[in-house]
Amino acid sequence: MLLDDHRSPWMTEELEDLRKLTRTFLAKELVPHQERFAEQHMVDRDFWRKAGDAGLLCISIPQEYGGGGGTFEHESVIAIEQALVGDDGWANGVHSTIVAHYINAFGSEEQKRRWLPGMASGELVGAIAMTEPTTGSDLQRVRTRAVRDGDDYVISGSKTFISNGTHCDVLIIVARTGDEAGGKGLSLIVAETADLSGFERGRVLQKIGQHSQDTRELSFVDMRVPTANLLGDREGLGFVQLMQQLPQERLIIAVGAAASAEASVRLATAYAKDREAFGDNLMSFQNTRFVLAECVGDALAARTLVDSCITRHVAGELDAAGASLAKFWCTDVQNKVADKCLQIFGGYGFMAEYPIARIFAGARVQKIYGGTNEIMKELVARSL
Ligand SMILES: Cc1cc2nc3c(=O)[nH]c(=O)nc-3n(C[C@H](O)[C@H](O)[C@H](O)COP(=O)(O)OP(=O)(O)OC[C@H]3O[C@@H](n4cnc5c(N)ncnc54)[C@H](O)[C@@H]3O)c2cc1C
Repeated sequence: MLLDDHRSPWMTEELEDLRKLTRTFLAKELVPHQERFAEQHMVDRDFWRKAGDAGLLCISIPQEYGGGGGTFEHESVIAIEQALVGDDGWANGVHSTIVAHYINAFGSEEQKRRWLPGMASGELVGAIAMTEPTTGSDLQRVRTRAVRDGDDYVISGSKTFISNGTHCDVLIIVARTGDEAGGKGLSLIVAETADLSGFERGRVLQKIGQHSQDTRELSFVDMRVPTANLLGDREGLGFVQLMQQLPQERLIIAVGAAASAEASVRLATAYAKDREAFGDNLMSFQNTRFVLAECVGDALAARTLVDSCITRHVAGELDAAGASLAKFWCTDVQNKVADKCLQIFGGYGFMAEYPIARIFAGARVQKIYGGTNEIMKELVARSL
């Protein structure tokens, strides 16, 4: 099929090996456990260790800090393979592609040596807490406060929708350290959550999809974190740091979205060839063939767009508008394709045990997190 003929221009032999390794790992350690992970609303803690042992965590972090020494291309291969098996529960994107990169980009030498090796081995799991009950898109309204007291910050506030909320050991908190207007009073502070007094994990959130993703409320009550855990050499840099790292977060979402669209097409094509109706299979109906042809086109276009963005990102040439465009466009395609492909399954498409149903439900939030698609369009429009 056309999707099999497409070869990403950035693909190399080494990345092909990584693809095979990831595929084998997921087939053994993730796919057989997907239903259990969904029921318990998280992957097993041990799964992180196994992923670390397989070399799949922090693959684009320098080797001197325990990472794989790869690039965003390596992260992309893992994200693609994960989406192709229909998984959206293992938040490696948050852990490896986002949190580890904040530490790598803005952490001191000591901070990097303290947290990155453990994150690469899976001993430590990373999360980032930006969103609060009263603010999501408008990050400048963050209320969580960090007040200096000697060598500590005393942090108070609450966060919601935090991915890896249950497992997280290394938590980057967006907090207000000053009263300057807008984003100027914001800082990023790393909390080591083990036995941390004042750190409370709240509700495990019941979602309409991504059931095996560990999404939780977190709250901080006079929680003391050393001032040495500030990311950056002074307070007030948080907003700028977020703006620098968010494009990579948006691109990894786009990469997964394009691969998820491909997964939907593959599932629906196989089903259409197999399911019989009116004396033939579903593929004999012109409507099925046309819908699948359209979906292959959409999936291939999304993959081509992300291929181009990956190459530009690795070359340091992808700006915020480009990453935002890829994020909103590919996640829209992912949702459109999942919907059309689910229809081909008829009633079975609505049954939770069918992978197409899980993909459909899990796809919806891709248009919301990582910056909503409306905010993405704003960022694109500002560049026009
Ligand atoms: C499953 C899941 C996982 C998540 N993981 C994390 C995580 O790990 N860490 C984290 O910090 N957050 C996380 N989030 C939060 C997510 O990033 C926010 O939900 C998102 O940024 C939107 O914020 P909000 O929900 O407060 O919506 P709001 O900001 O209140 O937006 C509501 C609606 O208004 C629209 N809107 C707002 N402002 C504008 C504007 N200027 N122009 C046009 N439309 C606008 C939005 O697009 C949206 O449609 C997660 C969310 C979910 C659901």
